Order: sequence, then structure tokens, then C-alpha cells
Amino acid sequence: MGRRSVLGASAMLLLPSMASAMPQASTMRIHDHGTFTRLVVELSESIEASAFVLPEPRRLVVDLPELAWSADVSVSKTALVSAVRAGLFEPGRSRLVIDLIQATQLSQAYVLPPTGATPWRLILDLTPTTDDAFQAAATLNQITRIMPQGGTAMAVAKPAAAVEKTTTAARPTSSKSGPRKIVVAIDPGHGGIDPGAIGAGGAYEKTITLMAAQQLKQKLEATGRYRAVLTRTRDTSLVLRQRIEIARHAPADIFISLHADSIRDRDIRGLSVYTLSEKASDAEAEALAERENKADLIIGMDLTKESQEVRNILIDLAQRESMNLAARLATSLIDELKREVTLLRNAHRFAGFAVLKSPDIPSVLIEMGYLSNRVDQSSLLKEGYRGKLMSAVVRGLDRYFKEAQLAQRY
Ligand SMILES: [Zn+2]
Repeated sequence: MGRRSVLGASAMLLLPSMASAMPQASTMRIHDHGTFTRLVVELSESIEASAFVLPEPRRLVVDLPELAWSADVSVSKTALVSAVRAGLFEPGRSRLVIDLIQATQLSQAYVLPPTGATPWRLILDLTPTTDDAFQAAATLNQITRIMPQGGTAMAVAKPAAAVEKTTTAARPTSSKSGPRKIVVAIDPGHGGIDPGAIGAGGAYEKTITLMAAQQLKQKLEATGRYRAVLTRTRDTSLVLRQRIEIARHAPADIFISLHADSIRDRDIRGLSVYTLSEKASDAEAEALAERENKADLIIGMDLTKESQEVRNILIDLAQRESMNLAARLATSLIDELKREVTLLRNAHRFAGFAVLKSPDIPSVLIEMGYLSNRVDQSSLLKEGYRGKLMSAVVRGLDRYFKEAQLAQRY
């Protein structure tokens, strides 16, 4: 492959274009930036595109509107890319095929508007990924939509294909790799018909989770590095499936569900962080997940028709990758939270929480404390205490993303 097809393609593409109305692709360049490889195509106007990967041999395919190509695509080989081909795929559609040397993911993709003498640009940032993650993305027909400006990339499904997308949580976050902010979905537990736990002094879990979520959003966005999306901003009912869907449509890099439940033993207090697992870490975690998973039942959903996908706790390949990242996130959060607040013993626990079952978003559930305990309840009702707790969550996220970025160097 490679050599001959690249030369053939570039010779063909250097022919002057007959078309005039269609967008022009004038220049293509590729460069290794250490942690990622960037491919840039200069364009005469704004376009939308979509990308997906193919196995055997590994390729990244980018579908574009029909373009008049005058760009030379015989780019030099990089650590991740052996060759690039481009051309008309079918009337109305041009295609870019990038031959990959190793398992690679499209970590960022966007179309940038002109600045000064620089025209519109399609920017594709590639980073290494695991063989398993690549295989999962290929098997699940993951498609990334590439939109003009802002750097938003949204996963959509091919018709009649599974709607799955492997995680891109380890996206580069330095300013040189684009304007994209890390998107955190914050899920205030319960709401509306479902009050959640009712505290020893009458406090509602749903009220405390919403107040904490709003504080976390404010603190995250104050850093300038994050954008926060709340699954609810008012006292409304929400099924578990909707909470996941809101996060996926954001599209969120991280999902944090906030809770403050109760437990029979009123002496038990302290914060804990939960991640998804087929097997619960202990009986308490299992009972807690069972109670939380009844949330849809509480707000009157027909569980025979709804949320089957969420309820099915069998764990697939893409899910497993997200779970590994969620476990790393839980560790980072606990490392920061333990400096500020009392933790439950074995503060990182696992269970089959339905709301943590986004296949593509590392998800954690924070039990901020127990409303059944008077000390925890009075603490959680204080804005200052919640603020201290949420500041530690921001630092935990910073730590997680910093480590994810460092890990990409190897
Ligand atoms: Zn709860």
C-alpha cells in the first residue's frame, strides 16, 4: 500500500479543478506535536465533516462535502500516520483516508474560521489509544461529527448501528491544542417527585444535591478550563436514562452524580465515591445501588419499556475503558477530598449503579455524606462546607486530567 497510492493520488489531485462553486482544499500539512499528531487542511469556506475508524488495516476515514482538491496529500510519515489519501468518494462527497501505524483515536476535530491571512481550516488531532479501544470504536461504528468553530465533536450512530462511542477523556487540554474546554456533566441526584433521602432534621437530599451542583458548576467555570452542564437546574423529576442522555449530548468528558443518602445506622458518616462494577465492593454499596436504581420506579416510569439498556448491567469493551478511567478519577477525587472532609472507611466503593452506565463517559457518584447522620446533615446544609467540598472536587478533576495528559507521552 502506501507509497504508490500516495503518489498516484497526489498526481491526480494536482490537476486543476474544473469546479468553481464547490469548496476548495488548498493545502494539507501534518506535524508531530509530541503528545499528538495534527493534520490541517486549509479550506476556502466552512464545512462539516464526519470521521470514523476502520480496522485491518487500521485507518481513520474523514467524510467531507465534495471538495475541489488542489492540496498535495503526499504528507511525510509521522509516529501515527503512514500515508494520507484524498478524493471524491461519490458525487457530493469527498473522502480523506489516513493510514495508521498504530491504534489511534481522533482526540479533537474542528473547523476553525479564518484569522488574518489564514483561511478556514479542518484540524484533526490524533493521539495513540489502546488496541482494545480502537477495536471497540471500529466494531461499534463510532462516528465523530466535526462542526465549524468551537471544537465540538459529537458522536452519532451510523444507521442501524450500535450507538456507542469509546472514551475521549484523555483529550489534550493545553491551549495549543485548541480552544475546547473540558465538559463536566453534573447530575444533582433525585428531584421533583423523588426527594431522595430525607434527613434526620428533615432536609431533602434533592435540595442539597442541586445546591451542591450549582456551586460545583460555578467553581469549575471560574477556572476557565471547564464547561459544566447540569442534568437538572430546578426541582424536577428526571429518569436515569435522561441523565445519561443529557451528559452524552453535551458531549461530556466526565459525569459526576451528586448524592447524600441515608443509612439505617445513624452513627455512620463521611463521604464516599462510587464507580460502576458488576460486583459490588460490599453489601452496603450493593444496597445503596439498589435503592438508587429504583429512582425511575419512584417517579412512575414503566420499567418494562424504559431504560432496558441502562438496566442491563453486562459490561462491554467500551464500557470497560470508561470504567478504568472512572476508577482513576475516583482516586484523584478522594486524594483531594480527604484533605477537606471526613471520609467513609474504604471511601472508593463499587456497585451496579444504573446512572453510571454511560458506555463512553467515565462516571462517578459522590455520596457527599449521610443525611441520616446529624453532623453530616448540618454540614451539608452549610454553603461554606459544600463550597469547600466542591473546591476539592475541582482540584481532583485537575489532578485527573493532568495525569491523563502526562500518560499520553508514553
Ligand atoms: Zn441519592
